[in-house]
Amino acid sequence: MTVELHRAPIVLPVDAPAIVDGAVAVRAGRILAVGPHDELAAAHPDAARHEWDGALVPGLVNAHTHLQYTSMAEVGQAEHSGFETWMHAFQELYEQEHDWLGSASTGAALSLRGGATAVAEIVTDPDAASAVHEAGLHGVVYWEVMGWTDAAWAHGGRDTVLEQLRRIPSPPAAGLSPHAVYSLDTGVLRDLAGLAAELGVRQHIHAAESAWEDAYVRTGTGELADTWRQLERTDFALLRGNGSGRSVIGYLDDLGSLSPATHLAHGIYVDADDRRILRERGVVVALCPRSNAVIGLDPPPVADYLREGNVIAVGTDSLSSSPSLSLLADVAELHRLSRAQGYRAADLHERLFAAATRGGAVALGLDDAGTLTAGRRADLAVFPIAARTPVDAVAELVESGPAVATATIVAGRVRWRA
Ligand SMILES: [Zn+2]
Repeated sequence: MTVELHRAPIVLPVDAPAIVDGAVAVRAGRILAVGPHDELAAAHPDAARHEWDGALVPGLVNAHTHLQYTSMAEVGQAEHSGFETWMHAFQELYEQEHDWLGSASTGAALSLRGGATAVAEIVTDPDAASAVHEAGLHGVVYWEVMGWTDAAWAHGGRDTVLEQLRRIPSPPAAGLSPHAVYSLDTGVLRDLAGLAAELGVRQHIHAAESAWEDAYVRTGTGELADTWRQLERTDFALLRGNGSGRSVIGYLDDLGSLSPATHLAHGIYVDADDRRILRERGVVVALCPRSNAVIGLDPPPVADYLREGNVIAVGTDSLSSSPSLSLLADVAELHRLSRAQGYRAADLHERLFAAATRGGAVALGLDDAGTLTAGRRADLAVFPIAARTPVDAVAELVESGPAVATATIVAGRVRWRA
């Protein structure tokens, strides 16, 4: 079978030292070898050759997005004063007519353009479910579950969700996304955790995203709880019982939702105890700082996550709350926030670049992605950069990485070329 050789001035494998004038040999969609160009060229004299400029890196993993909402960019391009006002703008546009498959497909194309080869994609409307499959992207397509009370769930909730999950085209793998702790009742969250474990599918949950979510879970009070009461949605156990007395993370832990097969999005309103629980349970958090800023939320405590040793990933969220689907733009924002929050260690560039690659792969349970390693899938991205040393290259990618990749290669196949 033909070997293809991808050569670049700088190759960043992420789990091994950088290589100047390096190459990645690919065969049958897998990485055959990573090393100095001259060595690989000598070993594979008949290889088909690709000569790239810039940095050749593992394909980025966007660990939280809703490509379905790509057509809702006007909401993400406005500024909002908090979750409630954003939600109102979102809902108004969402309820209009959309071509969800077209929107999700545009989002998938934009993801490839930005250098992503895998996504944690949350699908809310079935029409959008095939976009990731059709674009040839890797990752997990999570079916979003929301709005169920324990009483409604008892009448066929499980079967309904099972049927919805079955309709997601694979590859990639299908997963379950219990939307959030305030949109699903207590028993439903517990049962979904059990169902995911039984089926061997992954879970992805929005958690600790807003201050109102926090008050809702702790005490059943605050604006969110008031809104639910006004809408007479008072069936939820947390509203009947004045909250759980726990943080969002503690509450999810009590329900059995936290395991290495689950990853969370946002993780803003967390304390040291919450972060310890996440580490102990092996739960990765996908940080989406530009989305948080558009909605008007506080920034995530990225410096604390890094200092305390949590595994983090990065997500763009959707265009309904973010200016673009460029993952490197969120990495740059995390860099700025880390410094502003007092993170001074010299490993910052390296750790944030790892978050956008290896961290994302861990979050999604992709054990053959996220690094340039022989035997793994040949998911690669090439970025145009000015730096000519590996140290400068990582710094440039992290602080001001290009929004558009030169090339994005998924399982050995060039899916995007500038
Ligand atoms: Zn989201």
